[in-house]
Amino acid sequence: MRGVEELLAIDQAHAWHPYTATINQDPVYPVRAARGCRIQLMDGRELIDGMSSWWCAIHGYNHPVLNQALRDQIESMAHVMFGGLTHEPAVGLVERLVALTPAALRHVFLCDSGSVSVEVAIKMAIQYHQARGEPGRHRLLTLRSGYHGDTFAAMSVCDPVTGMHHLFSRVLPQQLFAPAPACRFGAPCQDEDISAFTDLLWRHREELAAVILEPIVQGAGGMRFYSADYLRRVRELCHAAGVLLIADEIATGFGRSGRLFACEYADISPDIMTVGKALTGGYLTLAATLASQEVATTISAGTPGVFMHGPTFMGNPLACAVANASIDLLLARGWEQEVRRIQAGLEQGLAPCRDLRGVVEVRILGAIGVVELARPVVMRDIQRRFVDRGVWVRPFGRLVYLMPPYVIEARDLARLCAVTQEVIGETASG
Ligand SMILES: *Cc1c(COP(=O)(O)O)cnc(C)c1O
Repeated sequence: MRGVEELLAIDQAHAWHPYTATINQDPVYPVRAARGCRIQLMDGRELIDGMSSWWCAIHGYNHPVLNQALRDQIESMAHVMFGGLTHEPAVGLVERLVALTPAALRHVFLCDSGSVSVEVAIKMAIQYHQARGEPGRHRLLTLRSGYHGDTFAAMSVCDPVTGMHHLFSRVLPQQLFAPAPACRFGAPCQDEDISAFTDLLWRHREELAAVILEPIVQGAGGMRFYSADYLRRVRELCHAAGVLLIADEIATGFGRSGRLFACEYADISPDIMTVGKALTGGYLTLAATLASQEVATTISAGTPGVFMHGPTFMGNPLACAVANASIDLLLARGWEQEVRRIQAGLEQGLAPCRDLRGVVEVRILGAIGVVELARPVVMRDIQRRFVDRGVWVRPFGRLVYLMPPYVIEARDLARLCAVTQEVIGETASG
């Protein structure tokens, strides 16, 4: 095996990391292996994982059940095209997703990543209205502080400021943005909390294909938790305006918010829903777009009579097999208790951060803990402070947040919180 120095030199010369430059790079840490809730660096250090590799690794790393599911699947086939062919792993997965998601969702379109599943959702909404003879309905209404992915249509509905719309303004479709919900999770939604959304919806309803939002938890666009009552009212307003509702559950899905899907907090069924991230327990890239009977049938009965999308690796058997194993493992293991236990651990462990200088707010929902700071972190500096204390978290902007694997032990969770408190105490007080 090559040495750490050589590996880092090639990485620095040729590997482009997420949201980074190729000059003056921040350090990256070479990983040898990952097991359970620990990431082992090549220099021998072990880090407690507080990120689940961006919402994905809910069962921890290197899980024997998921490893075995992949081994079993690879013995029969790694891949076949999904055009004209089908197989047990994909059929098992669509069956599970239909059973677990809100009742109105009946048809599953398998995709290769979260952003693609959002593109697919948007295309479905536009094709739906076209099939109904209303081609003028092609725009989207969404919320500020949202995040829906990095491809073009997905980017067009990300927060205009943090999503850097000005860079791509000449090519991005121009969408409509309501303010981020001011009513917090657990609070009721007053008329004034939703009046700007309502105005936009009614004023533009004849050109709107859909509303797209992240239910309850706005993730990468600000880590905000908002009122279930707001979501319920959005659902009713969309019905009244004849506009579809797309729920992006890519981050929230599979228990992270404290419910299997965050829509359950409002007891609503969207017309279209996207899932991804934790779908395969962090093993392989896979996502899905689910549609109601009404949406699917209308598209299929219209012109051109088919839904116009079909990725090469659609329904990949390895990805579907590990997704099935991950879902079964989640349901068998009593995830609700695990997430409740993490919520309590985060409440207790992060509470002292409220008294630190430079901390604006500490908020917790399900297995998500957020410390919002007054000023943006310096990534290079704060990352090293965490790693030096044996913890892997990756803050962004003014947010330090924890979302550990559901299997994290109480001791490790307490350590994650204590280190977060220490590091924020050192860096944010100046
Ligand atoms: C991560 C994320 C996406 C994009 O998923 P990718 O797999 O990174 O393309 C879309 N929506 C939400 C809510 C996400 O958190």
